[in-house]
Amino acid sequence: MAVIDVEISEVGPRDGLQSIQPIMATAAKKAWIDAEAAAGVREIEVGSFVPASLLPQLADTTELVAHARTIPGLKVAVLVPNFRGAEAAIAAGAHKITIPLSVSETHSLKNVRRTHAQMFEEVARIAALIKSLPAAQRPHFEGGLSTAFGCTLEGVISTRQVVTAAEQLMAAGCDEVGLSDTTGYADPRAVRVLTQAVWAAVGRDKLTGIHLHNTRGQGLACALAAVELGLFTVDASLGGIGGCPFAPGASGNIVTEDLVFMLEAMGLSTGIDLEQLLKVREIVRAALPAEVELYGFTAAAGLPKGFRAASVTA
Ligand code: ZN
Repeated sequence: MAVIDVEISEVGPRDGLQSIQPIMATAAKKAWIDAEAAAGVREIEVGSFVPASLLPQLADTTELVAHARTIPGLKVAVLVPNFRGAEAAIAAGAHKITIPLSVSETHSLKNVRRTHAQMFEEVARIAALIKSLPAAQRPHFEGGLSTAFGCTLEGVISTRQVVTAAEQLMAAGCDEVGLSDTTGYADPRAVRVLTQAVWAAVGRDKLTGIHLHNTRGQGLACALAAVELGLFTVDASLGGIGGCPFAPGASGNIVTEDLVFMLEAMGLSTGIDLEQLLKVREIVRAALPAEVELYGFTAAAGLPKGFRAASVTA
């Protein structure tokens, strides 16, 4: 596979869908995953191992992991809330598992009913389980620093809180940490400050990715700041789905198509065929209820005349 400058991690099937009530058929999710991988997307977060009673939309994650694993070269990522979820993810064969830790302990208590100490215990148990596996079967284990840029309950989250949480996640056995703007509070300066602070604490190779939301229209600006700093993996969702149901008009994650357009136009290769990616919207559109909005400026405006992508596709 060709070398790429920036890796896009498609999180639509997980982060995008989790706030959407009507359940998307498993066959449609598979078609979506297939089509994105065919367009050149190399990492897809296909679901989350939360109890089906809590999140029926993601109840088919085991089946989606098994399916996605058959696609050559695709890194299959999942979210896990706890040890039990990690066990299921490992049994299913996920390549990358992320456990989100709310840097805001108030948010952690409200969301997963666990203190930080309890969360680090879960992380340590998961790390031990991974260590017990043969090397070839060990998934990459990431600790996600949720609410890193601010919390809807606590408000401001200090850089020190984020750095401490990153250090504790690494001490508990994560392979790396990721910055996550769960609430859409980030701005480009905050991206720079937090990335550099976490790098200084745990090492540059222990923070390589960022998860952003476009809630206040800052998604691409933050992504640009992250990429210019040297973060390699940026999460995005097709059509920007997954907006907050309480903030009408606010898209969810960064729109994958717009992010790919920005990077490719800048001469940064993502390995993704943008025209092919834009066509994936039809699959997702057809599988979602009409009231769910698909966002994206590139899809609306089309590619500029004479546009040349950085990724040379065969
Ligand atoms: Zn998110």
